[in-house]
Amino acid sequence: MKVNPNYNTKETLLALYNKPLLELVFEAATIHRQFHNPREVQMSSLISIKTGGCSEDCGYCPQAARYNTGLEAHKLMTVESVVDQAKNAKANGSSRLCMGAAWREVRDNKDFDTVVEMVQAVNNMDMEVCCTLGMLTEEQAQRLKNAGLFAYNHNLDSSKDFYKDIISTREYEDRLNTIENARKAGITVCSGGIIGMGEAIEDRVGLLLSYMEMETPPDSIPINALVAIEGTPLEQQKPIEQWELIRMVATTRIAFPESVVRLSAGRTKMSMEAQALCFLAGAGSIFAGDKLLTTPNPEFNEDKEMFDILGLVAKEAFADGEKPVSNPDPIIEAKKAKAEVRAKELEEASFQPRKVTVE
Ligand code: SF4
Repeated sequence: MKVNPNYNTKETLLALYNKPLLELVFEAATIHRQFHNPREVQMSSLISIKTGGCSEDCGYCPQAARYNTGLEAHKLMTVESVVDQAKNAKANGSSRLCMGAAWREVRDNKDFDTVVEMVQAVNNMDMEVCCTLGMLTEEQAQRLKNAGLFAYNHNLDSSKDFYKDIISTREYEDRLNTIENARKAGITVCSGGIIGMGEAIEDRVGLLLSYMEMETPPDSIPINALVAIEGTPLEQQKPIEQWELIRMVATTRIAFPESVVRLSAGRTKMSMEAQALCFLAGAGSIFAGDKLLTTPNPEFNEDKEMFDILGLVAKEAFADGEKPVSNPDPIIEAKKAKAEVRAKELEEASFQPRKVTVE
């Protein structure tokens, strides 16, 4: 049951969201147990492979070039440094590595070739690889799939109505198209939202309704609480109550019984007790490590302690789908072959036979 038929309208979803909290959590916990192992929580790590300087105007994002947030921009990381970070994440229990680049869209250039190599390298370490790189064409999605990408993240952020208040540089439709392109390429879809941006409850429910309208809802639905960053248009937003995040996790769990609900940004503001209620209500993943792209996150050690206290176990990689195969990338292979031919030509051109004088 990908979508719960009892909650597929605005009215029924709103009534669900507004249920007495403990009843809502109980219903979510019951559904969660039918479709998932409630003791398993996936630890994922999210690294920023290219930071800042983004041309978009997402009102919550410190990486938008137009906001003065003091964030230091970095060009694309090397494959070697990504592999080092992946090794560290894996050693600390993460089974999924998400790589985020602050791009409006993917361009068919050298940087994208490097990302393709990153995907191949991390998939070959037996970790689930997820990328969030902005808008994506179907051909680009196919290249990532061929390299071994497990998931593509592209959040709808909020309802279609509220989206316009937060982002003006692209349309909701653009987001839906990218999700569709990833889906067509056979990549699992990770897409969710942020609460606490000043939206109404109807917008939270509206986000879930957008996923209901898809032919196949996302395999993963990350739920984030806004981390208000100084210098962004949303800097003055007050942090949401922990209860609101628990409600949103529980409602999402019930509405999409098979999807993995990911408790994402905003955990630093949550007590362990509140996080425990989120796990009870069906959160099946957290982001581990001290950074979530550019925002703070609890340290690996704190999470290990929480897992011990709550009796949770870290979920293995590929528990929810087969490991993709990493195939050679035709574009990179063609470039390599061309470079080899060129190197040979240069070598031959510079070869000067020794002059032999016969007396
Ligand atoms: S959320 Fe992504 S697209 Fe939007 S400004 Fe930040 S990096 Fe750019």
